[in-house]
Amino acid sequence: MAIMRSFFLACSQSAWMRERATHYRFVRRAVSRFMPGETAQDALSAAQQLQKLSIATVFTRLGENITDRSEANAVTEHYLQVLDRIRELGLAAEVSVKLTQLGLDLSPEIAFENLVRIIQHADGASIVWIDMEASNYVDVTLDLYRRARSQYPNTGICLQAYLYRTAKDIESLMAPGFAIRLVKGAYMEAPGVAFPRKSDVDENYFKLARQLLSDPARSLGIRTAFATHDINLIRRIIGYAESEKLSTSSFEFQMLYGIQREEQLRLAREGWKSIVLIAYGSYWFPWYMRRLAERPANVFFVLRNLLSA
Ligand SMILES: Cc1cc2nc3c(=O)[nH]c(=O)nc-3n(C[C@H](O)[C@H](O)[C@H](O)COP(=O)(O)OP(=O)(O)OC[C@H]3O[C@@H](n4cnc5c(N)ncnc54)[C@H](O)[C@@H]3O)c2cc1C
Repeated sequence: MAIMRSFFLACSQSAWMRERATHYRFVRRAVSRFMPGETAQDALSAAQQLQKLSIATVFTRLGENITDRSEANAVTEHYLQVLDRIRELGLAAEVSVKLTQLGLDLSPEIAFENLVRIIQHADGASIVWIDMEASNYVDVTLDLYRRARSQYPNTGICLQAYLYRTAKDIESLMAPGFAIRLVKGAYMEAPGVAFPRKSDVDENYFKLARQLLSDPARSLGIRTAFATHDINLIRRIIGYAESEKLSTSSFEFQMLYGIQREEQLRLAREGWKSIVLIAYGSYWFPWYMRRLAERPANVFFVLRNLLSA
């Protein structure tokens, strides 16, 4: 499993693979399991269907490590239009952005300017989530998050349970009304910065979940999103919440489109806030490789599509 994970994470960084693989129809068909389509309209239509099932959405346009300023500006403009469409359609939806897609590799200032334009355009009650990328970006991402958050309360941040530093980051970020999305972490990281063993990541996730649901955290009115498809972990978090007599509105679960659909519906039926992140766009290769890394069994879907091509 660890070898497969490393293999797919290495593929996610290969421009050579990206160039070639995305042309194959069977690969495109396999990725459609996780993406309703490449356009924003595809994502909006999927969100309308999910809303009928009491599931809210978060949109993210795939793309990362942009090194051209006009491209970063175009991504920003795109998110402004998506926010307008969300409003027009009356959708319970938010957006989640990667700072490297807004120009972080060009300069933190460019990414910040673009981020602020998106946050200002969002309805004050709607959070603009900032994805967390590889560990070399964590410090600058947290700096820009803190700066944005000091002016605009409707800003949320993703933190990764595989990093040793995350418990301390949570402590340092605790402030009234802060919004955090906790994930396990999707990048290739060295054992010096992240737990190499999955069981340790899972245990740390639960420990951080309890930290986020603690009395001091809740008294600050923080918004906590547990972004995981791990049913065992979800059950443990719910068990803990019930033992602490927390209401179903105290926190939320977020999952990716197309993964654990039954669980997404079940949580919504049970009264928990169930939110689905819908990714779309043509730059899906690195993102898709990270999905294969999470569950190498997904390769069978790729192979099935190859055989039926
Ligand atoms: C809403 C959301 C936002 C995210 N944002 C970020 C981010 O900003 N930064 C970041 O580093 N990571 C992000 N991630 C990815 C995250 O870090 C994990 O890589 C991913 O969620 C898999 O971990 P897991 O918690 O689902 O647990 P795992 O232990 O990996 O999976 C638990 C179970 O879920 C199912 N499952 C998990 N992944 C898949 C898959 N790809 N295909 C099919 N089944 C699967 C399997 O049944 C698996 O056994 C995000 C995830 C979500 C849901």
